[in-house]
Amino acid sequence: MTELTDAESRLRDRARELAREAAAQAAAADRSEQYPWPMVARMQQAGFMGLTIPKEMGGPGLSYFDAVLVIEEFSKACAVCGRIAVEANMGAVGAIMAYGSAAQKKIAAELVLAGDKPAILITEPEAGSAATDMRTRAVRRGDSWVIDGDKTWITGGGVSRLHLIFARAVEDGEEKGIGGFIVARTGEGMPDGMTAERIPSMGLRGMPEANIAMRGLVVPDSMVLRPPGGWARGFGRLMDAYNGQRVGAATVALGLAAGAYDHALVRAQAREQFGRPIAEFQGLAWMLADMSIELEASRALVWRAARSAGPNGFPDRLAAAQAKVMAADMAIRVTNNALQVWGAAGYSRENPMERYVRDARMFAIAGGTAQVLRTQVAEQILGRKLPQTRGGFVRLAEKAER
Ligand code: FAD
Repeated sequence: MTELTDAESRLRDRARELAREAAAQAAAADRSEQYPWPMVARMQQAGFMGLTIPKEMGGPGLSYFDAVLVIEEFSKACAVCGRIAVEANMGAVGAIMAYGSAAQKKIAAELVLAGDKPAILITEPEAGSAATDMRTRAVRRGDSWVIDGDKTWITGGGVSRLHLIFARAVEDGEEKGIGGFIVARTGEGMPDGMTAERIPSMGLRGMPEANIAMRGLVVPDSMVLRPPGGWARGFGRLMDAYNGQRVGAATVALGLAAGAYDHALVRAQAREQFGRPIAEFQGLAWMLADMSIELEASRALVWRAARSAGPNGFPDRLAAAQAKVMAADMAIRVTNNALQVWGAAGYSRENPMERYVRDARMFAIAGGTAQVLRTQVAEQILGRKLPQTRGGFVRLAEKAER
């Protein structure tokens, strides 16, 4: 495992220290299903929101790897806090810092450094894995764009101030491609033309997931996020930025699994049956050994992905997908086995084990499912496109003939 520099170790230790407070409130956030505002305020005061924002925009200008060290510590204690640290350092904020105008970067930096966790709006009821089937349209009207459409499973919907909305851009009646549109909430309610309705979810209950409806939402042209390469390449470039978010999601999965493992190690040595610590039974000792192996392997992939940031400033696509698949699948196994070590006590809502199990489940779904990301990995190791639509290979062949 790569050694950390002194600065990296200090950053991780600072996060570990504050994560004790995160641990103390994790059960309450889960039970109340309320966004943990007081903890977010503590994270903001400690400088953990906007770590990756460049110095010229008022942030500390740290790397994705630095952010990963912080995210893992919070996720061990409170996966909701870990996810907040992801979205305050990666995803929408990464895309805006890379592609945004000076004014857009200023708005995003000020909001995030003040404690906002931005929302990224891609998924729609009829466009999940097939995200490019999205129907939300942004139609140009003079100096503005008018957005209509429905998004679903939007993390932080209703609490986030900064929104990055993916929509089909239509100019002069012609569809140009998929672009990013920035909407910042200034007052208390949702912006005019936007409503949020909470979706009850299995885990990570302190983080609202929401259906977002947009009806006549007006966005000034100055708030269109224009990645280099124009509209036609807009979606691809925005998804490059999403590789950062994927590494972040992999880190939360890693962190919460490591948290569950730590609890399992303690319990296995403290609990006695048949007159001996249960850790002495080989069935459990090997279970713990396998957990430690899987955790170290996942951490190695996550760290490699975080350190792979290429010339565009984002983590490598293949490394990010490999890390996310590994960490997401691992977290489901490790949290389940950690609960098994606890026996009936682990099944009680008075202990954190059942929360870890529920919290782990989403990472194989959100931000690219385990299946879709495996196809992405396969495309890259095979060096060929693997179209998923029925006519995909036929169209590829036709294109090659032309
Ligand atoms: P579907 O696409 O309907 O897939 C259903 C099943 O079919 C899955 O098992 C999938 O793997 C499989 N499948 C589909 N296509 C293929 C294929 N080609 N090959 C093999 N298997 C396939 N979205 C946002 O935009 N912003 C957010 O902030 C956000 N946060 C989320 C938070 C949570 C907790 C969750 C659960 C989801 C979130 N999402 C968000 C949505 C998420 O990105 C989608 O759920 C995901 O892309 C999958 O889409 P779907 O759920 O519609 O599943």
